[in-house]
Amino acid sequence: MFGLGPAVVATAAGLSAGQTIVARDANHIDGQGGTRNAPNETMPGPRNRPLEQENPDSEFPPDTDNGSVRPFKYSFSLSRKRIESGGWTRQVTVRDLPISKDIAGVEMRLVAGGIRELHWHVEAEWAIMLYGTARITAVDQHARSFVSDVGEGDLWLFPKGVPHSIQGLGPDGCRFLLVFDDGSFDEFHTFLITDWLTHTPKEVLAKNFAVPASTFNRVPKREMFIFKADLPGDLAMEQKQAAEGTGTIPQSYDFRTSEMKPTKVTRGGEVKIIDSKNFPVTPITAAIVTLKPGGLRELHWHPNADEWQYYIKGKGRMTIFIAGSDARTMDFQEGDVGYILQSQPHYVENTGDTDLVFLEMFKNPHYEDISLAEWMAHTPRQLMDQHLKVGIDMLDAVPKQETVITPA
Ligand code: MN
Ligand code: MN
Repeated sequence: MFGLGPAVVATAAGLSAGQTIVARDANHIDGQGGTRNAPNETMPGPRNRPLEQENPDSEFPPDTDNGSVRPFKYSFSLSRKRIESGGWTRQVTVRDLPISKDIAGVEMRLVAGGIRELHWHVEAEWAIMLYGTARITAVDQHARSFVSDVGEGDLWLFPKGVPHSIQGLGPDGCRFLLVFDDGSFDEFHTFLITDWLTHTPKEVLAKNFAVPASTFNRVPKREMFIFKADLPGDLAMEQKQAAEGTGTIPQSYDFRTSEMKPTKVTRGGEVKIIDSKNFPVTPITAAIVTLKPGGLRELHWHPNADEWQYYIKGKGRMTIFIAGSDARTMDFQEGDVGYILQSQPHYVENTGDTDLVFLEMFKNPHYEDISLAEWMAHTPRQLMDQHLKVGIDMLDAVPKQETVITPA
Protein backbone atom coordinates (compact mmCIF):
# COMPACT_ATOMS: atom_id res chain seq x y z
CA MET A 1 0.00 0.00 0.00
CA PHE A 2 1.32 3.42 -0.94
CA GLY A 3 1.76 6.45 1.28
CA LEU A 4 0.76 4.96 4.60
CA GLY A 5 2.75 5.01 7.81
CA PRO A 6 4.13 1.81 9.28
CA ALA A 7 1.96 1.61 12.39
CA VAL A 8 -0.49 -1.29 12.49
CA VAL A 9 -3.27 -1.14 15.07
CA ALA A 10 -6.40 -3.09 15.76
CA THR A 11 -9.60 -1.10 15.64
CA ALA A 12 -12.76 -2.64 16.98
CA ALA A 13 -15.43 -0.41 15.46
CA GLY A 14 -16.84 -1.78 12.23
CA LEU A 15 -14.42 -4.66 11.95
CA SER A 16 -14.59 -8.25 13.10
CA ALA A 17 -12.66 -9.42 16.16
CA GLY A 18 -8.97 -9.96 15.53
CA GLN A 19 -9.09 -8.00 12.31
CA THR A 20 -6.12 -5.67 11.97
CA ILE A 21 -5.88 -2.73 9.67
CA VAL A 22 -3.16 -0.37 8.60
CA ALA A 23 -3.70 2.91 10.42
CA ARG A 24 -2.13 6.31 10.05
CA ASP A 25 1.28 7.03 11.51
CA ALA A 26 0.98 7.31 15.30
CA ASN A 27 2.80 10.66 15.19
CA HIS A 28 -0.21 12.15 13.48
CA ILE A 29 -2.97 10.69 15.59
CA ASP A 30 -3.54 13.15 18.42
CA GLY A 31 -3.23 16.49 16.70
CA GLN A 32 -1.17 17.71 19.63
CA GLY A 33 2.11 17.21 17.85
CA GLY A 34 2.23 13.62 19.09
CA THR A 35 5.78 12.67 19.94
CA ARG A 36 7.16 15.54 17.86
CA ASN A 37 9.00 17.33 20.64
CA ALA A 38 12.51 17.64 19.22
CA PRO A 39 13.89 21.21 19.29
CA ASN A 40 13.46 21.54 15.54
CA GLU A 41 9.81 20.46 15.81
CA THR A 42 8.53 22.61 18.69
CA MET A 43 6.71 25.88 18.04
CA PRO A 44 7.62 28.60 20.52
CA GLY A 45 5.78 31.87 19.86
CA PRO A 46 2.38 32.57 18.36
CA ARG A 47 0.17 29.74 17.18
CA ASN A 48 -3.48 28.99 16.47
CA ARG A 49 -4.09 25.89 18.57
CA PRO A 50 -7.70 25.10 17.49
CA LEU A 51 -6.81 25.32 13.80
CA GLU A 52 -3.69 23.19 14.29
CA GLN A 53 -5.72 20.57 16.11
CA GLU A 54 -8.16 20.41 13.20
CA ASN A 55 -5.30 20.13 10.74
CA PRO A 56 -2.66 17.73 12.13
CA ASP A 57 -1.41 16.90 8.62
CA SER A 58 -0.54 20.56 8.08
CA GLU A 59 1.17 20.91 11.47
CA PHE A 60 3.24 17.78 10.84
CA PRO A 61 2.83 16.70 7.21
CA PRO A 62 3.66 13.10 6.26
CA ASP A 63 7.26 12.79 5.06
CA THR A 64 5.87 11.92 1.63
CA ASP A 65 4.39 15.43 1.16
CA ASN A 66 6.48 17.73 -1.01
CA GLY A 67 6.52 21.00 -2.92
CA SER A 68 3.94 23.78 -3.15
CA VAL A 69 0.56 22.22 -3.95
CA ARG A 70 -2.16 24.89 -3.93
CA PRO A 71 -4.83 24.55 -1.20
CA PHE A 72 -7.67 22.18 -2.07
CA LYS A 73 -9.81 22.78 0.99
CA TYR A 74 -12.20 25.50 2.15
CA SER A 75 -14.72 25.35 4.97
CA PHE A 76 -18.31 26.60 4.85
CA SER A 77 -17.63 27.77 8.42
CA LEU A 78 -15.43 30.53 6.92
CA SER A 79 -18.09 31.72 4.45
CA ARG A 80 -20.21 34.82 5.02
CA LYS A 81 -23.65 33.71 6.12
CA ARG A 82 -26.56 35.77 4.76
CA ILE A 83 -29.42 35.61 7.26
CA GLU A 84 -32.99 36.47 6.20
CA SER A 85 -36.40 36.09 7.87
CA GLY A 86 -36.95 32.64 6.34
CA GLY A 87 -33.51 31.16 6.96
CA TRP A 88 -29.92 31.61 5.84
CA THR A 89 -27.44 30.69 3.12
CA ARG A 90 -23.70 30.68 2.49
CA GLN A 91 -21.53 29.49 -0.36
CA VAL A 92 -18.11 28.18 -1.36
CA THR A 93 -17.22 29.14 -4.94
CA VAL A 94 -14.14 29.71 -7.09
CA ARG A 95 -13.84 33.09 -5.35
CA ASP A 96 -13.15 31.26 -2.05
CA LEU A 97 -11.30 28.21 -3.39
CA PRO A 98 -9.53 29.30 -6.61
CA ILE A 99 -8.91 25.78 -8.00
CA SER A 100 -12.66 24.95 -7.88
CA LYS A 101 -13.42 26.18 -11.41
CA ASP A 102 -16.01 23.56 -12.37
CA ILE A 103 -18.26 23.29 -9.30
CA ALA A 104 -19.60 25.59 -6.57
CA GLY A 105 -21.59 24.70 -3.44
CA VAL A 106 -24.27 26.43 -1.37
CA GLU A 107 -25.61 25.52 2.07
CA MET A 108 -29.11 26.67 3.00
CA ARG A 109 -31.40 26.57 6.00
CA LEU A 110 -35.13 27.27 5.66
CA VAL A 111 -37.44 27.54 8.66
CA ALA A 112 -40.88 25.88 8.55
CA GLY A 113 -42.67 27.93 5.87
CA GLY A 114 -39.43 29.64 4.81
CA ILE A 115 -39.26 30.06 1.01
CA ARG A 116 -36.26 30.29 -1.27
CA GLU A 117 -37.85 32.67 -3.74
CA LEU A 118 -38.99 31.47 -7.20
CA HIS A 119 -35.91 31.86 -9.39
CA TRP A 120 -33.68 30.28 -12.01
CA HIS A 121 -30.04 30.37 -13.10
CA VAL A 122 -27.85 29.46 -16.04
CA GLU A 123 -26.34 26.49 -14.16
CA ALA A 124 -27.90 23.13 -13.26
CA GLU A 125 -28.68 22.68 -9.54
CA TRP A 126 -28.05 19.34 -7.80
CA ALA A 127 -29.10 19.06 -4.15
CA ILE A 128 -29.13 16.77 -1.14
CA MET A 129 -31.37 17.23 1.90
CA LEU A 130 -29.25 17.09 5.07
CA TYR A 131 -32.01 17.69 7.65
CA GLY A 132 -35.79 18.06 7.69
CA THR A 133 -38.22 18.27 4.78
CA ALA A 134 -39.10 20.69 1.99
CA ARG A 135 -41.62 21.23 -0.82
CA ILE A 136 -39.88 21.80 -4.16
CA THR A 137 -41.48 23.06 -7.40
CA ALA A 138 -40.33 23.55 -11.00
CA VAL A 139 -41.66 24.05 -14.53
CA ASP A 140 -39.82 22.71 -17.60
CA GLN A 141 -39.48 24.12 -21.15
CA HIS A 142 -42.70 22.35 -22.20
CA ALA A 143 -44.64 23.99 -19.34
CA ARG A 144 -44.89 20.64 -17.53
CA SER A 145 -44.93 20.90 -13.75
CA PHE A 146 -43.08 19.29 -10.90
CA VAL A 147 -44.16 19.54 -7.25
CA SER A 148 -42.70 17.17 -4.65
CA ASP A 149 -41.83 16.83 -0.97
CA VAL A 150 -38.25 15.75 -0.13
CA GLY A 151 -36.77 14.52 3.15
CA GLU A 152 -33.37 13.75 4.64
CA GLY A 153 -31.08 11.96 2.17
CA ASP A 154 -33.25 12.78 -0.86
CA LEU A 155 -31.73 14.47 -3.91
CA TRP A 156 -33.07 16.78 -6.58
CA LEU A 157 -31.84 18.16 -9.87
CA PHE A 158 -33.12 21.30 -11.54
CA PRO A 159 -31.80 21.44 -15.13
CA LYS A 160 -30.12 24.59 -16.47
CA GLY A 161 -32.54 27.48 -16.79
CA VAL A 162 -35.54 25.68 -15.25
CA PRO A 163 -37.38 27.96 -12.76
CA HIS A 164 -37.91 26.51 -9.27
CA SER A 165 -38.58 27.10 -5.58
CA ILE A 166 -37.84 25.42 -2.24
CA GLN A 167 -39.94 25.79 0.91
CA GLY A 168 -39.24 24.40 4.39
CA LEU A 169 -42.00 22.19 5.86
CA GLY A 170 -42.93 21.42 9.47
CA PRO A 171 -42.01 20.88 12.18
CA ASP A 172 -38.61 22.57 11.83
CA GLY A 173 -37.98 23.35 8.17
CA CYS A 174 -34.83 21.97 6.60
CA ARG A 175 -31.16 22.31 5.78
CA PHE A 176 -29.64 21.24 2.46
CA LEU A 177 -26.59 21.43 0.20
CA LEU A 178 -26.78 22.70 -3.39
CA VAL A 179 -24.12 21.89 -5.99
CA PHE A 180 -23.77 23.83 -9.27
CA ASP A 181 -21.86 22.84 -12.40
CA ASP A 182 -19.86 26.08 -12.57
CA GLY A 183 -17.36 27.24 -9.93
CA SER A 184 -18.25 30.89 -10.53
CA PHE A 185 -21.93 30.36 -9.68
CA ASP A 186 -23.28 32.99 -7.24
CA GLU A 187 -26.42 32.27 -5.17
CA PHE A 188 -26.77 36.02 -4.55
CA HIS A 189 -27.07 36.70 -8.30
CA THR A 190 -29.87 34.48 -9.60
CA PHE A 191 -32.87 35.46 -11.74
CA LEU A 192 -35.55 36.26 -9.11
CA ILE A 193 -39.21 36.63 -10.05
CA THR A 194 -39.81 39.77 -7.92
CA ASP A 195 -36.57 41.36 -9.11
CA TRP A 196 -37.54 40.81 -12.74
CA LEU A 197 -41.04 42.22 -12.39
CA THR A 198 -39.72 45.22 -10.46
CA HIS A 199 -37.45 45.96 -13.40
CA THR A 200 -40.13 45.65 -16.09
CA PRO A 201 -42.36 48.67 -16.92
CA LYS A 202 -45.79 48.17 -15.33
CA GLU A 203 -47.59 49.01 -18.57
CA VAL A 204 -45.69 46.16 -20.27
CA LEU A 205 -46.72 43.75 -17.51
CA ALA A 206 -50.32 44.99 -17.94
CA LYS A 207 -50.17 44.33 -21.69
CA ASN A 208 -48.51 40.94 -21.15
CA PHE A 209 -51.37 39.68 -18.99
CA ALA A 210 -54.22 41.92 -20.24
CA VAL A 211 -54.88 43.29 -16.76
CA PRO A 212 -54.76 46.83 -15.29
CA ALA A 213 -51.25 48.11 -14.46
CA SER A 214 -52.37 48.63 -10.86
CA THR A 215 -52.45 44.81 -10.49
CA PHE A 216 -48.70 45.02 -9.98
CA ASN A 217 -48.66 47.84 -7.40
CA ARG A 218 -47.87 45.43 -4.58
CA VAL A 219 -45.00 43.51 -6.23
CA PRO A 220 -42.14 43.91 -3.70
CA LYS A 221 -39.66 46.64 -4.66
CA ARG A 222 -36.78 44.62 -3.29
CA GLU A 223 -35.96 40.94 -3.91
CA MET A 224 -37.47 38.53 -1.37
CA PHE A 225 -34.69 35.90 -1.76
CA ILE A 226 -35.42 33.92 1.44
CA PHE A 227 -38.56 34.87 3.35
CA LYS A 228 -40.97 33.43 5.89
CA ALA A 229 -44.49 32.52 4.74
CA ASP A 230 -47.39 30.18 5.56
CA LEU A 231 -46.86 26.47 4.95
CA PRO A 232 -47.90 25.18 1.51
CA GLY A 233 -51.22 23.42 0.87
CA ASP A 234 -51.91 19.71 0.45
CA LEU A 235 -49.32 18.10 -1.88
CA ALA A 236 -51.81 16.29 -4.14
CA MET A 237 -53.92 19.44 -4.49
CA GLU A 238 -50.87 21.58 -5.42
CA GLN A 239 -49.63 18.94 -7.89
CA LYS A 240 -53.06 18.87 -9.60
CA GLN A 241 -53.25 22.66 -9.73
CA ALA A 242 -49.76 23.00 -11.22
CA ALA A 243 -50.36 20.30 -13.87
CA GLU A 244 -53.52 21.86 -15.36
CA GLY A 245 -53.43 21.80 -19.17
CA THR A 246 -49.88 20.50 -19.67
CA GLY A 247 -49.32 17.63 -17.21
CA THR A 248 -46.24 16.78 -15.19
CA ILE A 249 -42.59 16.32 -16.20
CA PRO A 250 -41.94 12.79 -17.58
CA GLN A 251 -38.71 12.14 -15.64
CA SER A 252 -38.69 13.10 -12.01
CA TYR A 253 -36.40 15.84 -10.73
CA ASP A 254 -36.09 14.09 -7.34
CA PHE A 255 -34.33 10.88 -6.27
CA ARG A 256 -34.72 8.84 -3.07
CA THR A 257 -31.29 7.59 -1.98
CA SER A 258 -32.88 5.62 0.87
CA GLU A 259 -34.63 3.40 -1.71
CA MET A 260 -31.37 2.66 -3.54
CA LYS A 261 -29.11 -0.31 -2.80
CA PRO A 262 -25.44 0.64 -2.29
CA THR A 263 -23.38 0.38 -5.48
CA LYS A 264 -20.58 -1.28 -3.51
CA VAL A 265 -20.30 -2.61 0.06
CA THR A 266 -17.07 -3.74 1.70
CA ARG A 267 -15.96 -4.24 5.29
CA GLY A 268 -14.45 -0.73 5.13
CA GLY A 269 -17.69 0.99 4.15
CA GLU A 270 -20.03 1.57 1.23
CA VAL A 271 -20.71 3.85 -1.70
CA LYS A 272 -23.84 4.86 -3.60
CA ILE A 273 -23.23 6.22 -7.08
CA ILE A 274 -26.00 8.35 -8.56
CA ASP A 275 -25.39 9.37 -12.17
CA SER A 276 -27.44 9.53 -15.37
CA LYS A 277 -27.79 5.71 -15.37
CA ASN A 278 -30.11 5.72 -12.36
CA PHE A 279 -31.09 9.43 -12.26
CA PRO A 280 -31.62 10.23 -15.96
CA VAL A 281 -32.12 14.00 -15.63
CA THR A 282 -28.77 14.69 -13.99
CA PRO A 283 -25.77 16.22 -15.77
CA ILE A 284 -23.93 16.00 -12.40
CA THR A 285 -22.70 12.74 -10.86
CA ALA A 286 -22.61 12.02 -7.13
CA ALA A 287 -20.93 9.32 -5.08
CA ILE A 288 -22.10 9.19 -1.46
CA VAL A 289 -19.26 7.51 0.43
CA THR A 290 -19.34 6.08 3.96
CA LEU A 291 -16.00 4.99 5.43
CA LYS A 292 -16.05 3.06 8.69
CA PRO A 293 -13.31 3.81 11.25
CA GLY A 294 -10.07 2.61 9.63
CA GLY A 295 -11.70 2.56 6.18
CA LEU A 296 -9.89 3.94 3.14
CA ARG A 297 -11.33 5.20 -0.16
CA GLU A 298 -8.65 3.49 -2.20
CA LEU A 299 -5.95 5.25 -4.27
CA HIS A 300 -7.57 6.34 -7.56
CA TRP A 301 -8.27 9.18 -9.98
CA HIS A 302 -11.11 10.32 -12.24
CA PRO A 303 -10.30 10.56 -15.97
CA ASN A 304 -13.44 12.47 -16.97
CA ALA A 305 -13.94 15.29 -14.44
CA ASP A 306 -12.68 17.33 -11.50
CA GLU A 307 -14.00 16.11 -8.12
CA TRP A 308 -15.74 18.47 -5.66
CA GLN A 309 -16.17 17.05 -2.17
CA TYR A 310 -18.43 17.91 0.73
CA TYR A 311 -17.86 16.33 4.15
CA ILE A 312 -21.14 15.50 5.91
CA LYS A 313 -19.80 13.89 9.08
CA GLY A 314 -16.70 12.41 10.67
CA LYS A 315 -13.02 13.17 10.17
CA GLY A 316 -10.67 12.26 7.35
CA ARG A 317 -7.57 13.18 5.45
CA MET A 318 -6.69 13.24 1.79
CA THR A 319 -3.38 13.37 -0.06
CA ILE A 320 -3.29 14.66 -3.63
CA PHE A 321 -0.27 13.81 -5.80
CA ILE A 322 0.63 16.31 -8.52
CA ALA A 323 2.79 15.38 -11.51
CA GLY A 324 6.36 16.53 -10.83
CA SER A 325 6.93 15.02 -7.38
CA ASP A 326 4.55 17.34 -5.49
CA ALA A 327 2.06 16.05 -2.92
CA ARG A 328 0.04 17.56 -0.08
CA THR A 329 -2.11 16.14 2.67
CA MET A 330 -5.03 18.06 4.20
CA ASP A 331 -7.53 17.17 6.93
CA PHE A 332 -11.31 17.36 6.54
CA GLN A 333 -14.37 17.39 8.75
CA GLU A 334 -18.05 18.37 8.73
CA GLY A 335 -18.81 21.28 6.42
CA ASP A 336 -15.46 21.20 4.60
CA VAL A 337 -15.13 21.33 0.83
CA GLY A 338 -12.34 19.50 -1.02
CA TYR A 339 -11.38 19.77 -4.68
CA ILE A 340 -9.27 17.55 -6.94
CA LEU A 341 -8.43 18.37 -10.55
CA GLN A 342 -9.21 15.84 -13.28
CA SER A 343 -6.89 12.80 -13.26
CA GLN A 344 -4.97 13.87 -10.14
CA PRO A 345 -4.63 10.78 -7.92
CA HIS A 346 -5.85 10.78 -4.33
CA TYR A 347 -7.19 8.70 -1.45
CA VAL A 348 -9.47 9.56 1.48
CA GLU A 349 -8.79 7.95 4.85
CA ASN A 350 -11.11 7.92 7.87
CA THR A 351 -8.92 9.32 10.66
CA GLY A 352 -11.65 9.45 13.33
CA ASP A 353 -13.40 6.86 15.48
CA THR A 354 -16.85 7.35 13.89
CA ASP A 355 -18.12 6.86 10.33
CA LEU A 356 -16.82 9.37 7.79
CA VAL A 357 -19.51 10.36 5.27
CA PHE A 358 -18.70 12.56 2.30
CA LEU A 359 -19.87 13.39 -1.22
CA GLU A 360 -17.79 13.11 -4.39
CA MET A 361 -19.40 15.38 -7.03
CA PHE A 362 -18.52 15.55 -10.73
CA LYS A 363 -19.55 17.86 -13.56
CA ASN A 364 -20.25 14.90 -15.84
CA PRO A 365 -23.35 12.71 -16.28
CA HIS A 366 -21.25 9.51 -16.04
CA TYR A 367 -19.20 8.24 -13.10
CA GLU A 368 -15.64 7.12 -13.96
CA ASP A 369 -12.56 6.23 -11.95
CA ILE A 370 -9.34 4.27 -12.34
CA SER A 371 -7.79 2.77 -9.22
CA LEU A 372 -4.15 1.97 -8.59
CA ALA A 373 -5.15 -1.58 -7.69
CA GLU A 374 -7.06 -2.05 -10.97
CA TRP A 375 -4.06 -0.78 -12.90
CA MET A 376 -1.73 -3.14 -11.04
CA ALA A 377 -4.07 -6.12 -11.38
CA HIS A 378 -4.49 -5.77 -15.14
CA THR A 379 -0.92 -4.99 -16.23
CA PRO A 380 1.55 -7.82 -16.98
CA ARG A 381 3.00 -8.85 -13.61
CA GLN A 382 6.65 -8.74 -14.69
CA LEU A 383 6.29 -5.25 -16.14
CA MET A 384 4.66 -3.95 -12.96
CA ASP A 385 7.25 -5.63 -10.73
CA GLN A 386 10.11 -4.21 -12.80
CA HIS A 387 8.80 -0.79 -11.66
CA LEU A 388 7.67 -1.36 -8.09
CA LYS A 389 9.65 -4.40 -6.89
CA VAL A 390 6.80 -5.47 -4.60
CA GLY A 391 7.05 -9.12 -5.69
CA ILE A 392 4.92 -11.22 -8.05
CA ASP A 393 3.04 -12.79 -5.11
CA MET A 394 1.80 -9.40 -3.96
CA LEU A 395 0.71 -8.51 -7.50
CA ASP A 396 -1.06 -11.88 -7.91
CA ALA A 397 -3.08 -11.15 -4.78
CA VAL A 398 -4.36 -7.72 -5.86
CA PRO A 399 -8.16 -8.05 -6.38
CA LYS A 400 -9.15 -8.26 -10.04
CA GLN A 401 -12.30 -6.19 -9.42
CA GLU A 402 -12.14 -2.65 -8.05
CA THR A 403 -12.41 -2.65 -4.22
CA VAL A 404 -13.36 1.10 -3.99
CA ILE A 405 -13.21 1.03 -0.18
CA THR A 406 -10.66 -1.01 1.82
CA PRO A 407 -10.52 -3.27 3.74
CA ALA A 408 -12.32 -5.34 1.09
MN1 MN B 1 -31.66 27.48 -7.48
MN1 MN C 1 -12.15 10.52 -5.98
